[in-house]
Amino acid sequence: MLIDTHAHLNFKAFEDNLDEVVKRCEELKMSVINVGAQYETSKKAVEITKYKNFYASLGLHPIHVFDEDFVLDEYKKIYTDKVLAIGETGLDYFHSPKSEENNKPITPKVISKQIEVFEEHIKLAKELDLPLILHGRNSKDDFTLQTVYFDIFKILENHKYLNGVFHCFSGSLMEAKTIIDNEMYIGFTGIITYPNAQDLRDIVNYLPLDRILIETDSPYLAPQKYRGKTNEPIYVEEVARQIAEIKNLSLEKVIDTTWENAKKLFKI
Ligand SMILES: [Zn+2]
Repeated sequence: MLIDTHAHLNFKAFEDNLDEVVKRCEELKMSVINVGAQYETSKKAVEITKYKNFYASLGLHPIHVFDEDFVLDEYKKIYTDKVLAIGETGLDYFHSPKSEENNKPITPKVISKQIEVFEEHIKLAKELDLPLILHGRNSKDDFTLQTVYFDIFKILENHKYLNGVFHCFSGSLMEAKTIIDNEMYIGFTGIITYPNAQDLRDIVNYLPLDRILIETDSPYLAPQKYRGKTNEPIYVEEVARQIAEIKNLSLEKVIDTTWENAKKLFKI
């Protein structure tokens, strides 16, 4: 079964056409995990699980940690058996928080707040026995802030909770190796279809298929074929197709194996 392991149909971009987008997923008989980025969008993700084969993940994205508090008990209240993961959570050295001034550099204060909230997510994931959906992004210009994947990894190690997926991976081969050597998963989006993403395609080629998940990160990051359009879960097939091409495998093989991987990680 085709599965988009990271979508945001719970975001405003789908406010007016959610039913149609869901219908297109149903026609393909695919599964979708909608991922929360704040309390309200986590709630909305749970609401969308009323559709068959739609699941949710609960979390407060690191770029939102100054917009609202992460209240663990509140998140626990919206947990159902269709919630398969906690996140997205992690660290973001790229965006300054929305509530801070624009273009302000990432400060130690920002990072320590992100760590504090991330650690609360780990606590919740442990309590509910769920995997984490991890977000990491390096700074675009600060050379001291290029270690996001290792920083996230170190925190997971400290908490002895190496359980989850690094979604929308954009790191190095060394970082990818660390992740798979510890039996965690790596999620790839439509970015791997972009002409300038050869480095990422080389990493896909290196990684064993049984560590890879496919995702869209809808409404963002539409694959090359649909670039400029609003991304939606059905386009995850383009990600699978690209992986099949890189690894010289059939599309079916990639769809089947990434489904098995998702089933295993998220206990579907
Ligand atoms: Zn996302």
